[in-house]
Amino acid sequence: MRPYILAETNWETLKDAKFDLAILPWGATEAHNYHLPYATDNIQADHMVAESAKVAWEKGGKVIVLPTIPFGVNTGQSDIYLDINLNPSTQLAMLTDIVEVLNRQGIYKLLIHNGHGGNNFKPLIRELGLKFPKMFISLSFFPGALDKYSYFEEKGDHADEMETSLMLYLRPDLVLPKDKWGDGKDKKYKIKAFSEGWMWAERKWSEISKDTGVGNPHKSTAEKGEHFFRDLTQKMGGLFYEICNADVDDLYE
Ligand SMILES: [Zn+2]
Repeated sequence: MRPYILAETNWETLKDAKFDLAILPWGATEAHNYHLPYATDNIQADHMVAESAKVAWEKGGKVIVLPTIPFGVNTGQSDIYLDINLNPSTQLAMLTDIVEVLNRQGIYKLLIHNGHGGNNFKPLIRELGLKFPKMFISLSFFPGALDKYSYFEEKGDHADEMETSLMLYLRPDLVLPKDKWGDGKDKKYKIKAFSEGWMWAERKWSEISKDTGVGNPHKSTAEKGEHFFRDLTQKMGGLFYEICNADVDDLYE
């Protein structure tokens, strides 16, 4: 039983406990190329947050990891079989209820670990910040935590070399053999501005990728996944510890 994982701990341990930071991993249930499981984002989030919380806990940080929310925003994948969409308004309702509990019980720091690119929590956090002024709600999106392309060669953002390498390290039993891997080729917009980073429209996923992947997974290895995972969780663990000890009334230099 890991005392920093809420799903594993118990009332005997918690009745006199006090935590500074709650961490909420949030994933998605969706196709990941032909070869990765639908729970890829949840499995990655579970492992990353648990390992990072362990690092923080061992430094003395009072962190508690909430259960991973397994459904995310999949509005662009409505025609992909059993991609389970959770609308942003539903996410706001869920997050409001969770924050209400933390706020009432005096855990004023919440970190949302976003494990899925389609989830967009910033507008929700802005709205909750007004409603719960005592709460310090922060957000992480792990692919930006490290220089991704010093670990992986191929560009991509979905079931790509990074995700396949991570899954080969974390759950190789759930990765199909290499001859089943699609090439993760994606189509870009004809209108060039959409590739320049300042224009955005939701991609119709089934039209941009045949295998649902974006990014070629073929250079993936478990070793690359392990290297990235180790460095990431060390960095995230340090961050969790820092937030635990931060004075939220004195955050700026
Ligand atoms: Zn993913």
